[in-house]
Amino acid sequence: MRYPSTINLPFNYAVIREGFTPLRPGDSIPDGPGWWLPIQGNALVVLPDGEGVRLHQGELPGWLAGGREPLCIGTWRGEPLRAVSVGSKISIPGPWQIEAFNAVEERLDDLLLTLGGMGMQILHWQKKSRFCSICGEKLVPIVGSWGRRCSGCGHDHFPAIHPCSIVLVRRGEEFLMARKREWPPGRYGLVAGFLDFGESLEECAAREVLEETGIMVENVRYVGSQCWPFPSQLMAGFVADYAGGEIRVEEHELEDARWFTADAPPAGIPPRRSIARWIIDRYMLGGEW
Ligand SMILES: [Zn+2]
Repeated sequence: MRYPSTINLPFNYAVIREGFTPLRPGDSIPDGPGWWLPIQGNALVVLPDGEGVRLHQGELPGWLAGGREPLCIGTWRGEPLRAVSVGSKISIPGPWQIEAFNAVEERLDDLLLTLGGMGMQILHWQKKSRFCSICGEKLVPIVGSWGRRCSGCGHDHFPAIHPCSIVLVRRGEEFLMARKREWPPGRYGLVAGFLDFGESLEECAAREVLEETGIMVENVRYVGSQCWPFPSQLMAGFVADYAGGEIRVEEHELEDARWFTADAPPAGIPPRRSIARWIIDRYMLGGEW
């Protein structure tokens, strides 16, 4: 398998640990223009580099920043690494390229996915934490953290990361997969959903499967997790055993759900960068749980 453990999946910190040192507001930033993560929507603006692509290094062209303030999120290979939000109306001229994090073609390698994902997640937090959700006054940085303090009521706000459970259900040699209406034809994935009040992650997994497909599960086992910065989820992966019920699709959420086998999987499955795919591959390769 490409990723021996879920820890090695892109978007997880382990991928960039060797070259990346985080910096937070108030930390001193080394000199020099350094490296850039220009982010437009769910895509990273990069430059061609042989067969692949690379980050821009050096001064950032003014048209790309469009007057927005860059944010230093750390150092990459000893030089400052800055993320900047690129306005949706700015069109990207060659040789610059815009590469979506969720593109089917894997032009962004694991390093670029992970650096870009971290930049995107932090920019998202900065954007949505300008004002206090309690009193409406301006928030200011808390030195040494990504937290923000209210200049009015003094309440501290910290980055919100939203846990989701994602689960592969097994019934003998079969496993349950589901598809959403908006996905490409033939593509199936695993049942997933956000944690609700008062739930453990295991309970969330079981509830989502029951609500979305009508299937009851037991023996819900944790198998690993992945940061999923779209914009700020944490995917907790599980496998579970079938415990009863017939497939009954919740039509607001899903178009279809069905049982597949390793010999006859669906035409389309999630991309290798996702924990969904890691769980499916591991199961189809007969890994030990
Ligand atoms: Zn306040």
